Parts: sequence; structure tokens; C-alpha cells
Amino acid sequence: MFNIFDLTQKDPKTLQERALKLAEEAGELAQAVLSATKAPGSEYKNQTLADVREEAADAAIVAMSVLAQASSSREEFEAELTRLMAEKCAKWQEKLQEKPLAE
Ligand SMILES: [Mg+2]
Repeated sequence: MFNIFDLTQKDPKTLQERALKLAEEAGELAQAVLSATKAPGSEYKNQTLADVREEAADAAIVAMSVLAQASSSREEFEAELTRLMAEKCAKWQEKLQEKPLAE
């Protein structure tokens, strides 16, 4: 997907460095959300929902790159990405259906 496997292969980061990069991107996403929603103390950064979208994409790309680096081949990466996304989204959907409706 979007050449993530090849880009990961070319990038010399270790798995630990890539996981730390994901934490960095998660921090940037948190900062953008705090600023865009005008949370007290964070509004001065003047970030917008466009910044939130951009940081969410950064975090998603790095997360997929971690998945790619933890895979031994492109085939395994693609199969695991498809399997895990389907399983995790189905589990999420099940949880939402269990939830009683708000009164
Ligand atoms: Mg970023």
C-alpha cells in the first residue's frame, strides 16, 4: 500500500527507532488536536483540522512502516495488514454493537 514496504526497506531505521518515530508522530498529532480544539494553553499554536489530518497521516504511515519492518516479506506484510485490519475492525464493530444506546 502506497509503497510502504519498499520505502521501509530503503530507510535505515531500526525497529526501535521506527517505534520511537511513531511515538514522536503521536505527540505531534496530540499537539495538533489540542491546538485545533483550542484546549487551554494550546490554542496559541493556531493549528487547524488540516494539521490534524496531516499528523494523523504521518502517524498512520509510520505505524504501517513498523508493521512492514516486522514482516519478513512484502507478501507477509500485505497479508498481515489485510488480516489484522479486518480482524481489528470487526472486533471494534462488535464492541460498538455491545454498547447500550445512550439514554
Ligand atoms: Mg508529523
